[in-house]
Amino acid sequence: MARLMGQMMQMPLMISSLLVHAARHHGDTEIVSKRVEGDIHRYTYQDAELRARKLAQAFARLGCEPGDRVATLAWNGYRHFEIYYGASGSELVCHTINPRLFPEQIAWIANDAADKVLCFDLNFLPLVEKLAPQLSSVKHFVAMVGRSHMPAGSSIPGLLCYEDLVDGEDGVYRWPEFDENTASSICYTSGTTGNPKGAVYSHRSTLLHTYGLALPDGMGVGAKDVILPVVPMFHVNAWGTPYAAPMIGAKLVFPGPHLDGKSLYELMEAEKVTFSAGVPTVWLGLINFAQAGKLKFSTLRRTVIGGSACPPAMMRTLEDEFDVEVIHAWGMTEMSPLGTLSKLKAKHASLDAEAQRRILEKQGKVIFGVDMEIIDDDGASLPWDGKASGNLVVRGPWVIQSYYQRPESPLVKVNGRDWFPTGDVAAIDADAYMQITDRSKDVIKSGGEWISSIDLENIAMGHPAVLEAAAIACRHPKWDERPLLVVVKKPGADLTREQMLGYFEGRIAKWQIPDDVAFVSEIPHTATGKIQKLKLRELFKDHRLPTN
Ligand code: AMP
Repeated sequence: MARLMGQMMQMPLMISSLLVHAARHHGDTEIVSKRVEGDIHRYTYQDAELRARKLAQAFARLGCEPGDRVATLAWNGYRHFEIYYGASGSELVCHTINPRLFPEQIAWIANDAADKVLCFDLNFLPLVEKLAPQLSSVKHFVAMVGRSHMPAGSSIPGLLCYEDLVDGEDGVYRWPEFDENTASSICYTSGTTGNPKGAVYSHRSTLLHTYGLALPDGMGVGAKDVILPVVPMFHVNAWGTPYAAPMIGAKLVFPGPHLDGKSLYELMEAEKVTFSAGVPTVWLGLINFAQAGKLKFSTLRRTVIGGSACPPAMMRTLEDEFDVEVIHAWGMTEMSPLGTLSKLKAKHASLDAEAQRRILEKQGKVIFGVDMEIIDDDGASLPWDGKASGNLVVRGPWVIQSYYQRPESPLVKVNGRDWFPTGDVAAIDADAYMQITDRSKDVIKSGGEWISSIDLENIAMGHPAVLEAAAIACRHPKWDERPLLVVVKKPGADLTREQMLGYFEGRIAKWQIPDDVAFVSEIPHTATGKIQKLKLRELFKDHRLPTN
């Protein structure tokens, strides 16, 4: 029998359509940016769309052809936003590079991606000058500034001025429509082991991810929101917020490189920000600043915290002291990045506040589009009972199938289907809420039993004298590994090893309490603000735990 086909319009899902929609239906909604130069720039979606079109023309004039990579080394700002659309929208691939990586890693990544154009914020000029001779594929270097700020006498050959490129075009350009599976952007994983690997997103995967993100139980944002992504646009596309804001018509506020507590607080207040997103470490700075000055947020009502586990103490502080709802989220570069978010179900309405909190502290439930399983080392599914924990695998249209130019498949078979192994260890409860216990590499294995480093860190962070804490495995002659807690005290706070360990009594099983505490002035972080466990383990590899 002949199959009956649907008779709907064939419209490929295009990233450019997000900005066209915003320009047509939310034309006067603002995009406000704190620039590298320190001043504030403001314009509208209509302005942004026109300039993105001119940029697309400029890229073509530079000789870019479909599939060519346009790299960025840039903070969150309107020019970076224009590149997202000008590049992807004209069939080029936007490659955001994390400027906090080591210069050798940046060069390696740019060469691996064979970037043709490199656009950069002016404060990265010394870095780019140093790297330029190693970037053999880059044909054009573009400084993201106006003519008056162009550096004189730079060693970069033929350095171009961003504003000149835009001003040189007339904007008479129609966004092309092409196969929605075409690559739109590339992000490299942070690569804690081995070289970083590229995740290549498509127009289709990005649009589907954006729809999912905007759902009420996703980030739940709308046209009344003012969104300030603290998460950088070089960290998995600022978790999709530069796509979601135009889709829903929300005002966007970009903080540039000004990410300290004071700058963020002042920008949030001045621009009436209602919604934000970032890793736990940036909230530490913001909370400290607000607490020190006894300040409140007058408009900020919700924030997504993810990228690493949000300590429950941080959630409570934000909610109780500042009336800011925390949406705990989990995801990864390979997932565009969103996988799960913590939101309640109707059946939880009757629970008391404490019980609701315990649910919301988990990494949450999947957004439709992503599915998950936990499996044991033999690939068998584990029960969803909130107790069994195993390797977390995921699948969905915004989850990668392979890495850029890597022939080997990262996928594993579970029940006859392909799944992506996240490298995280998690439990899933009967209501389908997922809780991460660890990165598989970070689990502490004591006498064959697993101790969750995240559990230990969450407890330690609840102590009023603790600014930051990390739990790592330390070699132990009898138990193989035992936990060592590394602690940064709050400035001026008093805390002894005994007091810290005593704080764990009654909060966790006795055998899981760390064996020792090391006080340090700083905990190392990765380029995306996560605790660098590998480095910590190296630093403490000769640490001798007390023997009793
Ligand atoms: P990246 O691809 O660099 O964003 O790193 C992704 C990894 O960060 C995940 O696989 C997790 O190990 C970790 N991660 C992200 N969000 C969370 C979270 N809410 N809780 C615990 N770990 C997280």
